Amino acid sequence: MGEVVLAVDIGGTKTAAALADRHDTLLRTEVATTPAAEGPTAVVATVVALAERLLSGTGLRLSGVGIGAAGVVDAGSGTIVSATDTFADWPGTPLAALVRAGLGAHLITDAPVRVQNDVDAHAAGEYRHGAAAGAASALIVAVGTGVGAGLILGDDAVRGAHHVAGEIAHLPVPGAAHLRCPCGRPGHLEAIGSGIGMHRHFLSLGGDPGITDARGIAAESVAGDPIARRAIGESAAAVGRAIAGAATILDPERIVVTGGVPNIGEDWWRPMRDAFHAEAIDALQSTPILPGTLGDDAPLRGAAASVWRNP
Ligand SMILES: [Zn+2]
Repeated sequence: MGEVVLAVDIGGTKTAAALADRHDTLLRTEVATTPAAEGPTAVVATVVALAERLLSGTGLRLSGVGIGAAGVVDAGSGTIVSATDTFADWPGTPLAALVRAGLGAHLITDAPVRVQNDVDAHAAGEYRHGAAAGAASALIVAVGTGVGAGLILGDDAVRGAHHVAGEIAHLPVPGAAHLRCPCGRPGHLEAIGSGIGMHRHFLSLGGDPGITDARGIAAESVAGDPIARRAIGESAAAVGRAIAGAATILDPERIVVTGGVPNIGEDWWRPMRDAFHAEAIDALQSTPILPGTLGDDAPLRGAAASVWRNP
């Protein structure tokens, strides 16, 4: 196999790990439940166990490790700056150092261990190998349980002075004032645009309380429920408006939208695009807005890339 790196995607419910080659091609992948509530030691132990399963019988040592992790991450030091309550004791965790210590002799001497935000890793994957490949700049927006974005200009991921660049979740959007964002403030994009936000909006409109998530709302919309249809449309429009606002500041060559919620299909994409085109000034109207192409491989391929290129 030659040189291999370990790529890791630490999400709130599951952790995926893969061996990848020089071209960020995934050679083998393993998945485990993330023990998020048990604290950093348990999460690191999961990463190490996945690595040992992947390496078992290969005789290989790792040339580096790239990790995408939930939360605000200081990519320079590989430390978690802040995170939601899903991860116990996560803020302040020196994740790169802990993973390095845990992997020990599985690493070659001086192997880099890099950590970045999981959406940034996803963005790097789509930028290098997916829907944004070949573009000089791209804004990649992930809409799922939450909402996040990564911005890449040239070969550089934009992280910001406080490691927050791309946190589109907390842009104020019209139509969300009645909903509270996970950050505690009302009216932010994530409060209406995420899957959870869409569901809360659906309930606020008087939707059937027996429907428990965005997937259920999508099925209800297909079945002809006008409240479900409206909830999807207004949730998607909030995403489109926020992307137009972000595009006005950043002017990316390409915009990629990915994650579970866009899988609803045209009932989501149409109002999202319509809202973008209603808000964006003329010069931005032709900016391509494309679906992601790599799915769950995106954060792993982006994490793998960070080993070689320090995104
Ligand atoms: Zn917020």
